[in-house]
Amino acid sequence: MPRTDGTIQATGTESIRQAVTSADSPPPSAAERDAWSVTTIRKGDTLSGILAREGQNGGEISRVMASIPEARVFRRLYPGQTLRLRAETGQPWQELIYENGPTEAFHLVRQGNRFELTREIRRFDTRTTHVAGAIESSLFEDGQNAGLSDALIMKLAEIFGWDIDFALGLRRGDRFAVIYEEKYWRGQKVGDGDILAAEFINQGRVFRAIAYRDNDGHATYYTPEGMSVRRSFLRTPVAFSRITSRFSRSRFHPVLKKWRAHHGVDYGAPTGTPVHATASGRILSLGQYGGYGKRIVIRHNATFSTVYAHLSRYNTKLRAGSFVEQGQTIGYVGSTGLATGPHLHYEFRVNGVHRNPLTFRFPGATPIAREQREDFARMAKTWSERLDIVGRNAQIASGN
Ligand SMILES: [Zn+2]
Repeated sequence: MPRTDGTIQATGTESIRQAVTSADSPPPSAAERDAWSVTTIRKGDTLSGILAREGQNGGEISRVMASIPEARVFRRLYPGQTLRLRAETGQPWQELIYENGPTEAFHLVRQGNRFELTREIRRFDTRTTHVAGAIESSLFEDGQNAGLSDALIMKLAEIFGWDIDFALGLRRGDRFAVIYEEKYWRGQKVGDGDILAAEFINQGRVFRAIAYRDNDGHATYYTPEGMSVRRSFLRTPVAFSRITSRFSRSRFHPVLKKWRAHHGVDYGAPTGTPVHATASGRILSLGQYGGYGKRIVIRHNATFSTVYAHLSRYNTKLRAGSFVEQGQTIGYVGSTGLATGPHLHYEFRVNGVHRNPLTFRFPGATPIAREQREDFARMAKTWSERLDIVGRNAQIASGN
């Protein structure tokens, strides 16, 4: 039975009480368990219908629902949730529990000819656990094989999605390690909590993320150095340049002498001025491309890509497939292709659609706040050490 803390409302012969129970409350006794029947709610189920199936008076509950305002929760039962009913054989039911979700349950208890409704808020035990694995086919398949739920796999992909291209960039032998919370209720696992720390090694590059929770318990992820895992782009790919043509849906093309959309921004600068990658990523293509002249396309992640055109030459170390860091020199300003003079034509694509890089708002990529830095650094150290161990043990276990 749940511990109860005080009546919060009483209406006539019925009342609603609020109770808070913790995960270490004693489990029900065997005798108590025997009298319970458990129903998993199916689509279209009603409380009176379920009671009737159990051989109970279905009409009575309708009157209870009508007389206790808070009992409206029973009017709409959600498929997949659980209803527990305690009744001795041939007797009217004594207690009914509707588990409305993992953290909340409603108890309706018969007391003579009145009913008492209690809302129970369940405080879970959280336990920390970890998994590690290697990529053989896909993040989903290998994540599941390692024991991650679909929800955790999605979270993992979201955390590292700015650095790792999960659609095209995974390679066999990439590795991951995840430390996360599990929620327990009376010794049984009822769900997953937050990812606390994670590591992903993608094509030899190591990425780590550490959760920092605000007062509401909402987790934000940072690198161990306290930088946001969400990346921002450099505003300009060419230093000391001036914008000679802005992004527009229609402009008069100086070479073609006709009106055309300009799906990028032009930066005028002398031939040979270095051009920087505006964010880290992988070079998708590098070469001559019609009116673009010498052109580089960088895919940053599944969402963002950038284009650098009219280059005079490339950074000779780079090939299609090379990784580039944010700010790295990838080539030099020129006037190859359709260009009246030396400039960089820069395009910014979001999900394949040209967007204006000068006005695009990047979602929050702020580092850890100054006042939280010390606290975060302590946590980051602890979790990093644990990631070292989890990753190493997994590697030993797999013989790699
Ligand atoms: Zn242009």
